[in-house]
Amino acid sequence: MCGIVAYKGPKNCYPILIDGLHRLEYRGYDSAGIACLSDEKITITKRSGKVIQLEHGLKVNGKYENCNGSGIAHTRWATHGKPNQINAHPHKDDSGNIVLVHNGIIENYDPIKKFLKSKKIKFKSETDTEVLVQLIGYFFNKGKLNFEQSVRAALQRVDGAYGIVVLNKKEPDVMIAARKGSPLVLGIKDNEFFIGSDVSPIIKHTQQIIYLEDSQMAVMKSEEYKITSIDKDVSLPKKVEKIDFKIDDYDKGKFKYFMHKEIHEQIHTIRNTITGRAKKDRVYLNGLMEYWTQIKEADKIFITACGTSWHAGLIGKNLIERFAEVPVHVEYASEFRYNKTLVDNKSVVIAISQSGETADTLAAIKKANEYGAITVGVCNVAGSSVARETNCGIFTRCGHEVGVASTKAFTAQVSVLYLLALKLADSNDTINRSSMKAHLDFDDSINKIKSILKKENEIRKVALKYKNAKDFLYLGRGLNFPVALEGALKLKEISYIHAEGYPAAEMKHGPIALVDKDMPNLFIVPKDKTYDKIISNIEEIKSRKGKIIIVTDSRDKILKSLANDLILIPKTNHYMFCQLATIVLQLFAYYIAVGKKLNVDQPRNLAKSVTVE
Ligand code: GLU
Repeated sequence: MCGIVAYKGPKNCYPILIDGLHRLEYRGYDSAGIACLSDEKITITKRSGKVIQLEHGLKVNGKYENCNGSGIAHTRWATHGKPNQINAHPHKDDSGNIVLVHNGIIENYDPIKKFLKSKKIKFKSETDTEVLVQLIGYFFNKGKLNFEQSVRAALQRVDGAYGIVVLNKKEPDVMIAARKGSPLVLGIKDNEFFIGSDVSPIIKHTQQIIYLEDSQMAVMKSEEYKITSIDKDVSLPKKVEKIDFKIDDYDKGKFKYFMHKEIHEQIHTIRNTITGRAKKDRVYLNGLMEYWTQIKEADKIFITACGTSWHAGLIGKNLIERFAEVPVHVEYASEFRYNKTLVDNKSVVIAISQSGETADTLAAIKKANEYGAITVGVCNVAGSSVARETNCGIFTRCGHEVGVASTKAFTAQVSVLYLLALKLADSNDTINRSSMKAHLDFDDSINKIKSILKKENEIRKVALKYKNAKDFLYLGRGLNFPVALEGALKLKEISYIHAEGYPAAEMKHGPIALVDKDMPNLFIVPKDKTYDKIISNIEEIKSRKGKIIIVTDSRDKILKSLANDLILIPKTNHYMFCQLATIVLQLFAYYIAVGKKLNVDQPRNLAKSVTVE
């Protein structure tokens, strides 16, 4: 979701900020803008569309204009007001002194706007954001409060979520950043400061960073800075961390798209996530140990997440119930936060989020904490809000995921939940040592990912046959029902083809009405206890002339005779089958989207880390 990058220091801010915006492009946006404060003058440049358009707007004869001073920049994902140049950030107040970029939503913008209009303040955009900068300006221009006090006064009056950076030409040596709900990171280097929505625009410049916490403000003045609170003027500790992200994570290497690179990385990321955690017949999850007694004694487990992470949660439910025999309830975080949820201090709530910043998931964690549950975070970003707000957690170790459509994070989440299910089973005595050992023997099955990647060309050929389809059904049973949901979601996200995932037998209860000769039906068919039943489901579709694509580990002739296209995956165990099938479906969606000449990494309307409700 929207990206913020800001710079304060002696260098020309334009190249630094534009490079930063490019690194944030993966988050999804519709317009971009930049404001520079130099020689007590504010220059704002905005463009709808891509960062490259903004870049052109800042260059003369291919060279950046000069702007030594402070600068703030933004890629917008519109929530209030059309995605056009006027509504693009930065926004300034009526006096033109104060300029601001904002990620999030100001929920009570309407009454504040009415109040400010009654004070004859004129608005230029349709955004909720402009209300905030006008309110800061209102306090500042009354003359009683300094810049920092004005920002604090305004923030104390707004509801909603925000990450903001503000400049004021009347106090040109000051830059202020603040957050509530939306993430912000501060990078520090000698006499320079960098702000980002995440570390991606910062790591190139410094590894010394502070993850701002909720309700914190960073005030940078000349070469000094302090961390303070939105609620009162106090000095808070500066928790500087050294991060070890590599710039490589932000390069596509030999691949055209990040998504493609990330699909290929799964051979390493699944292994990285497991390494050191599974040894012979034991699972070690150090991040949970402080709370393990309560976790293993929980009488019920909730898993809460959004999108792809929710699908991983459904697989987690199946695994935990199967191995550890504890009931698990999986709920979308956006529902969990408002539904009557039977969470108490004997419950464990597992929250899954790749970025660790998903707004709904964070709200669900807050609710679970209030109800006294033990909260367990499963996320990919150390220092993220999910990591901080939960009691304990397990990191997926897949490096930065840039493609908007999640791939390697999903298979790493499933790996983490698999380990957790086995560890719970071990503690609950619902598994014996030899089964533990067999289940933790990953080497061979992880190597089989390589054979899937070798089949890429074959998968591409099958995919291209179906690129003009209008609708798809994805069908699987048991562990492979969530795989079907995830495969359908990938296709929707990047190819804009309507697709639905169903438990294979459930399709008789409605979706079969959609089947005709043009409709592809993708079946995930492991040779397991439901195999014969799925074959009947395939026959039912076939007799209605639907097209059949089968992903299977079985060489049985019957499947060949039923399938229009069949993708064979190597034999492995039941659990790894669903990981391998997922990778096939990721490649299938990828090649359909590439075949349709779509921008796979930045699908329309989508954002990578969904930091609004
Ligand atoms: N709500 C603000 C707007 O619509 C900010 C959106 C964003 O986070 O990009 O302009």
